[in-house]
Amino acid sequence: MMKTRNAVVRWYENAGRDFPWRETSDPFHILIAEMLLRRTTASAVLRVYSPFVNRFGTPQKLATASERSLAGRLVSLGLQSTRARQMHETAILIVREHDGRVPDGSEHLKRFPGVGEYAASAVLNFAFGHSVPMVDGNVIHLLNRVFSSDLEGPTNPRALDLMRVLGGRRQPKHLYWGIIDLVSTICLRKAPRCNRCPLNKLCDYAKNHALQKS
Ligand code: SF4
Repeated sequence: MMKTRNAVVRWYENAGRDFPWRETSDPFHILIAEMLLRRTTASAVLRVYSPFVNRFGTPQKLATASERSLAGRLVSLGLQSTRARQMHETAILIVREHDGRVPDGSEHLKRFPGVGEYAASAVLNFAFGHSVPMVDGNVIHLLNRVFSSDLEGPTNPRALDLMRVLGGRRQPKHLYWGIIDLVSTICLRKAPRCNRCPLNKLCDYAKNHALQKS
């Protein structure tokens, strides 16, 4: 487990992608990024994120914007009406119920529309420095390939247990960002590029695939 974690973290630190939401610790900006990234590629979010947070980068500014103007800025991502409504309602709740500050607590965060377990944990980890294991489709995919597991669905408790061990006490954010980037660029679902992967000596899929070929 530790070798796998270190390999992902090292690879991320050398070859991971730079995104503006990875360079901030502002909880509201991280929350916005997680809401935009849901069911959307990072490259698509990259086109809208900076202009969006420059214009609506505080709960107060977002709460007083019209949903129509918000949706207009999110057209290229799709689901713009739903995203605009959820972000607007979230901003209003933050202003009304949390004095305009993103709350530091999973149960509070998950009450916001469109904020699920993963997004809440991402805010806790990346903004507030907690160590919370996280599981989404990318994590499940990589765990299944590397450990020959048959985990399904992001709420799987076995996957959370695995990430608890893999991430260790610190649950480093470079591990999670590394997993996202590996799945997007190397561990592709249809044709994984195992010969370029930092996990190829540790991964069950790569070992089994090599055996089948020999
Ligand atoms: S070695 Fe291949 S299957 Fe395993 S994690 Fe890397 S790219 Fe995916």
